[in-house]
Amino acid sequence: MSGKMKAVICHGPMDYKLEEVDIPKAGPGEALVRVEAVGICASDLKCYHGAAKFWGDANRPAWAETEVIPGHEFVGEIVELDEAAAKRWNVKVGDRVVAEQIVPCGECRYCRRGDYHMCAPHTLFGFQRVTPGAMASYMVFPVEALVHKISKSVKPWHAAYVEPLSCALHAVERANIRFDDVVVVAGAGPIGLGMVAGARAKNPRLLVVLDFDDRKLAVAKKCGADITINVGKEDAIQKVLDLTEGYGADIYLEGTGHPAAVPQGLKMLRKLGTFVLYSVFKEDVTVDWSIISDDKELDVLGAHLGQNCWPAAIKMIESGILPLDEICTHQFPLADFQKGLDMVDAGTESIKVSLIP
Ligand SMILES: [Zn+2]
Ligand SMILES: [Zn+2]
Repeated sequence: MSGKMKAVICHGPMDYKLEEVDIPKAGPGEALVRVEAVGICASDLKCYHGAAKFWGDANRPAWAETEVIPGHEFVGEIVELDEAAAKRWNVKVGDRVVAEQIVPCGECRYCRRGDYHMCAPHTLFGFQRVTPGAMASYMVFPVEALVHKISKSVKPWHAAYVEPLSCALHAVERANIRFDDVVVVAGAGPIGLGMVAGARAKNPRLLVVLDFDDRKLAVAKKCGADITINVGKEDAIQKVLDLTEGYGADIYLEGTGHPAAVPQGLKMLRKLGTFVLYSVFKEDVTVDWSIISDDKELDVLGAHLGQNCWPAAIKMIESGILPLDEICTHQFPLADFQKGLDMVDAGTESIKVSLIP
């Protein structure tokens, strides 16, 4: 296929433009995909605003590149692929597919050990020139892409939610939830709600969700929360202590990205509890590390991307158990990408904002 298409191009922080570019060509073993929907992620926004994690600072080199089409939470339909690609991914023209956001090299120490989500070169769709993202009418899945089929019976923007959901499920797996646990999820945004759904599937004794927004907390209930606490109106730490005979929660899953959520979690966990951190922070977070050692002997675990969680996330979306119409709150045409970015930035009206190319 040849011709032109519309695409959002990142020229650098605060400099994204809708432009007309050539439709990309699929090489040997690759697939050309017509994009049906692409979600806007908090990380897209941090990249847009010029966060050091993406553009570097005195302590680290830049990781993101300019002249790149953003977008890593996508779903699309296969338009072109050769036999090698069809065989590798077990897909055909016309199938609806998603690809994991990381395009692993397959050769580094992490990839060889199966920890592909920590691949050393760490090529992600939508941040580097070798893997243009989905804020465009078409995109190419390279040979190394991890591709999954997803049903056409779900709305495209619901299907695109599989990316954040897979990340949330991985964070839940890190927590190693037991039936007798009291689990607290901080944040009822796209990641927090996915954590709630994942934690519900593990069926702990009590699942508590914290947020500032009653509307989001109501959605968290529909995702499976037993109890919701508005941290702006109630003393969340005291309430969790009251719910646990003063001991504190067994597990705290942090999905807000707000610095205050870290000391809050350390305080509301019981001794020998588990803290799982998924969030990315704009600034450094300072806490009393002695709580982790001397006071409570905590397990503090990081989580990144959705290692081996995509099939489960797809199944969850296809099953219809999630209130996806309430999670995926806004859809805009690609031309209104700026409106979408601004809405995610404001964070008041929306939960998941998607673009429809
Ligand atoms: Zn994302
Ligand atoms: Zn690798």
